[in-house]
Amino acid sequence: MVDSMVYCSIMKRILAQDEIPDDIIQKSRRWQQSRNTFDPAEHSAPVYAILQEILAVPEDEWNGQSSLRPILTRFPKEGKGLYSKANLIACYRRLIAEGDLEPDPLIMRRIRMKPMRTQSGVAPVTVLTAPAGCPGKCIFCPDDWRMPKSYIYDEPGCQRAERDGFDPFRQTLGRIRSFESIGHSANKVELLILGGTWSAYSRNYREWFIQRCFDAMNSAGAFDAAMVDTAEEVASASLAEAQQRNVEAQHRNVGLVIETRPDWITPDEIRHLRRLGVTKVQIGVQSLDDEILTRNKRGHDVAAVRHALGLLRTAGFKLHLHWMPNLYGATPDSDREDFARFFDDPAIRPDELKIYPCSLIADTELYTLWQEGAYHPYTQDELVALLADVKPTIPAYTRVNRLFRDIPAHHIQAGVTMSNLREVVHDELVRRGARCGCIRCREIKWRRVRPDELTLRVTTYATDLTTEHFLEYVTGPQSEEPGLIAGFLRLSLPREPGVGSRRFMDEIHNSAMIREVHVYGPALAVGAERPGAPQHAGLGEQLMDAAREISRAAGFTRMSVIAATGTRAYYAARGFTLGDLYMHSDLLPRA
Ligand code: SF4
Repeated sequence: MVDSMVYCSIMKRILAQDEIPDDIIQKSRRWQQSRNTFDPAEHSAPVYAILQEILAVPEDEWNGQSSLRPILTRFPKEGKGLYSKANLIACYRRLIAEGDLEPDPLIMRRIRMKPMRTQSGVAPVTVLTAPAGCPGKCIFCPDDWRMPKSYIYDEPGCQRAERDGFDPFRQTLGRIRSFESIGHSANKVELLILGGTWSAYSRNYREWFIQRCFDAMNSAGAFDAAMVDTAEEVASASLAEAQQRNVEAQHRNVGLVIETRPDWITPDEIRHLRRLGVTKVQIGVQSLDDEILTRNKRGHDVAAVRHALGLLRTAGFKLHLHWMPNLYGATPDSDREDFARFFDDPAIRPDELKIYPCSLIADTELYTLWQEGAYHPYTQDELVALLADVKPTIPAYTRVNRLFRDIPAHHIQAGVTMSNLREVVHDELVRRGARCGCIRCREIKWRRVRPDELTLRVTTYATDLTTEHFLEYVTGPQSEEPGLIAGFLRLSLPREPGVGSRRFMDEIHNSAMIREVHVYGPALAVGAERPGAPQHAGLGEQLMDAAREISRAAGFTRMSVIAATGTRAYYAARGFTLGDLYMHSDLLPRA
């Protein structure tokens, strides 16, 4: 392992304004101007009429954009063109501020932009660390000096990060404001920190970065109310102080995700991740074949992956793995075998998976191999057939978050470039009469459910060190669409006391561990309940009761939870008390 200082000694934490490339600043100005020229006061009357028409459509007849468009056409903007959703939201807010309209969640739901963004109940805020190297030497990995390793300057989130000078405070505040400006609640924030290998940044930088993200979450409301002017005014004195403030903040952190390499997961790193408040770890696995890992110069073997996952899982972290088909040396058939190992090998069995087919980028070693005729990107047919073969094999406890990385097509020198691969694979599955049973493909999304439609289903599976119970509330056989998932809980029971991380973390030595509780529904602000939405049907409590029963029956007397900082109040209200790095509650025998 290489000393992290090597990567950070040459690194700037925040770019000064004059270091941000001109094209990025100009693009940002143009975007701002286009947003700022609309004055809601001038358009309140026609938009009021539009909102009334939107409200008049019965729920069972509302069909998103198809219902909205005819209404907008009847009230053209200044006699020509249509009002955008951003225009509608700006006017809606003004009408409320002026007392001309009562807040109505139904209106917001129908005019909200990009409804998929918070569909899983949480606003995902993605931020990038500052440009720096990485201990890895992977032959496929792009190396753009403007970005942290593996990212390219014109990927969607990268431009935003560069515009903000990679400042964690500005990035976090900007994303929260952006969500709220398009009609989403950002009261529950999942913070995703991207950029090369997190563990290779200096400890000092990592702590500062997360502290500043928390400062932004803690003060977003005050900035919007113009109670503070500068980021310095709201700076906390320490990470611990920033976290403590977040426990009762308006914008609470309900999940914190970093990405790193398996060979950087050590006992020391596990403790530090918890100290930072991390709840989920993205691990670049890429392949479970030692020969492929070597040929692609990954710098670690499969044993390192197993070891890392064992430490992380027994410490309660959620495991989000990356798999990269079409690496150098792989074939579609060898990739089918490779994918099967993710679930056949008890030490792997991920909670979440990103499938990033290898993209051929200029100036990489892989590009040279391709020029020499030694590497062959899969054709579209080969890739779609491969993914359509593997998707139906995914178990109920895994969520496939992505099927393709959003690298702009002009960077991909050969091979598949389509960003809608997920839909193409889905169409192929429909054509075959097959289905994917992963969590994402079964999420309840916007559908309303009655509690009596839901049944509890428990999937139990073994890993090398634990017995995992995946508890999910799904629509039952009597429902129109059986098998849809409304909420789930991951319960992890160590096979024996002191396995994996339990060996050096006394606090959880022999606890039953809740690794995740998730109930679906759009991210609703506290108090803004939506009748019928699963987030407010008490599913979380019922899942926890069921987890307690399973744990008691297995002989456990204590339950712990890897609580994100902003969920501490939620768990405290349910009998958990704060320990050093986790929250705990005793499992009293049933009276
Ligand atoms: S470990 Fe990740 S970021 Fe580092 S070189 Fe390999 S792929 Fe790139």
